[in-house]
Amino acid sequence: MKNKNNYDYLLSDLTKLSGVGKKTMAILKKKKVNNIFDLLWRLPKSYTDRSLTSKINELQVGNIHTIKVIPLKYNFPRIRNLPSRVNCEDETGKIDCIFFNSYEGYIRKILPLNEEVTVSGKISIYKNKYQITNPTYVSKDSAVIEKVHNKYSLTEGISERTYNKIITQILKNLPILNEWHNEKILKLFGNEGWNSSIIKLHDPVNIGNYKSNFYRRLAYDEILSSFLVNSEIRKRIKKIKKVSKNFTKKPYENTISKLNFNLTNDQKNALKYINKDLSSKSKMFRLLQGDVGSGKTIVSLISALNVIESNFQVAFMAPTEILARQHFNLAKQLFPKNIKIKLLSSKSDNLEKKKIVQELKDHKIEIVFGTHAIFQKKIIFSKLGYIIIDEQHKFGVRQRKLLSDKGGKNCDILLMSATPIPRTLTMSIYGDMDVSIIREKPNHRKEIKTYSKLENKINDVINFVKKSIKEGNQIFWVCPLIEESKKLDHQSVIEKYRYLNKLFPNKVGLLHGKIDSKEKEKILNRFLNKEYLVLVSTTIIEVGIDFPNANIIIIENSNKFGLSQLHQLRGRVGRGSKQATCILLFKSNLSNNAKKRINILKNSNDGFKISEEDMKLRGFGDLLGFKQSGIKNFKLADPVHNEDLFLLAEEEIRIIEKENVDIKRYKPLLKLYDQADIINDLI
Ligand code: ADP
Ligand code: MG
Repeated sequence: MKNKNNYDYLLSDLTKLSGVGKKTMAILKKKKVNNIFDLLWRLPKSYTDRSLTSKINELQVGNIHTIKVIPLKYNFPRIRNLPSRVNCEDETGKIDCIFFNSYEGYIRKILPLNEEVTVSGKISIYKNKYQITNPTYVSKDSAVIEKVHNKYSLTEGISERTYNKIITQILKNLPILNEWHNEKILKLFGNEGWNSSIIKLHDPVNIGNYKSNFYRRLAYDEILSSFLVNSEIRKRIKKIKKVSKNFTKKPYENTISKLNFNLTNDQKNALKYINKDLSSKSKMFRLLQGDVGSGKTIVSLISALNVIESNFQVAFMAPTEILARQHFNLAKQLFPKNIKIKLLSSKSDNLEKKKIVQELKDHKIEIVFGTHAIFQKKIIFSKLGYIIIDEQHKFGVRQRKLLSDKGGKNCDILLMSATPIPRTLTMSIYGDMDVSIIREKPNHRKEIKTYSKLENKINDVINFVKKSIKEGNQIFWVCPLIEESKKLDHQSVIEKYRYLNKLFPNKVGLLHGKIDSKEKEKILNRFLNKEYLVLVSTTIIEVGIDFPNANIIIIENSNKFGLSQLHQLRGRVGRGSKQATCILLFKSNLSNNAKKRINILKNSNDGFKISEEDMKLRGFGDLLGFKQSGIKNFKLADPVHNEDLFLLAEEEIRIIEKENVDIKRYKPLLKLYDQADIINDLI
């Protein structure tokens, strides 16, 4: 069956396997094993050596032994559900083989009386006598018993024997695929081919051999395939020809003159690249990545001006209403009065909504702000030329591809994300886009001071708050819950609000997701106008909101939040020129891991660095919730331990792009590793 280049076998479903029953198949399906390829990645954890036979007087209870015995007598029960028992012996002692749910005929066949047979299984003791319950192997010929037997972390309902039979069968039928790597790369892995690597991966002598050539080669395969898909998507998008936008310096200069600060060099640089893309003849698909507070909004708004000047419409999408409104207000403030700006809010009345829909159709609106509602089916733009999407780091590659198709060929796309990611992951997560990074923070910023405190020291915190208020500062107070919960022992905003409002009457605002948006806006405005000095809030203040005067943030139950989320929350303060403080509150003594996380936060304000540390602590699977976002979940490759392989793949992609290497060479790799529909469009 060793067909050359026959990867179809690997992609075929489990019915292709012989000797696998419906029950086993159903169990595997439930575990998301859909085809034969999926089975290759569950690795043996340890193995049982059944090659050594023992005498009965050498048996150790609880261990697995293989013994040669002579069956002497059957005891078949009269009553159903009782086990059958076969008395056996060798020259050193006696043992019983116990069978639950086995037919009499079957037992007579495998254990014929007075003939030597080999049995293998776990030894137990019952009424002072050794026994083996449901022996794993029974054979007249001891050579039939496999010498070494892999142990996988098994799914309930599948026996070790069945699973080993499946894997052995697959490895026997494993196709030999044409090598996709070039000689130079292959040499780095000791010329280990894919086929032999897989076989070695399942060889129990290699368990835990992560540094070996075969393991690294397989890890590299995964990385390269994910990078390749992204790189192909990017190439496709760049090939799309569009009507370029015209550029004049005027709108840019007008807007800049209204700002009371200068753009940082990184902001200027990002703007330069965005403008270059907008004025080019190919479609832009760019990510603007920058830590919280690095000033991405202003960059995107300035870039939108030229698009409007070129007689195109712009759609600006934010993840929440509050944020959409804030961006909308900023645009109204900055943009020339003649530009028609609207906010599409889910809370505005139907008449107003209808009017906006019509105006978008008639090109009476030039830039619209809103949540994902701006992409509803009923909304038709007259001439959409630019989509800006804020804080959408949770969009996966597939969602982004849909988005890039959405606006039509003349529509440029800019995504913004304040979630810095480790360098090794940039290509796997954002490889389908061009990336601009703003690393520099506006230069008047001071580092945020971060402290951790036990919750029972609340009086110290309150004293600090009192003092800060006297100095004219404002405070965010973040709790994980809205209302008290019987299940979760976490602080709720409502409870905290009551408590703080007694201490600071009429100076405390309360904000959470269940408050309607008009009310929310009132509350936020009161905070902005310093009527409220403390704002008690759930994490809805996490994303993007900008309050330059708030310089203290207190986070309750902070060990419940991830490192990156804490960094995001902390980024709500320290946007003005005053010294900012972040206090992390905890219920009880911290675990070691929590302590490490706090130290990382205390020692750094650099989101990129924090994300690297976060990854080292947690492993990348958990990082930033990317698991849920459709990001590729590697089976063997690990960005921390295989950093060199990620860099190698990045370098190789550069060469492949530069030398225009035909992607067909990688067809088996892509077919096997990225079984998504996208691949069919690409090769
Ligand atoms: P983010 O990148 O997190 O979206 P914002 O765009 O909300 O950051 O900007 C954060 C704050 O910094 C805003 O108040 C904005 O006006 C201000 N800001 C932006 N660029 C600069 C700059 N170059 N110098 C000073 N302040 C700036
Ligand atoms: Mg922002």
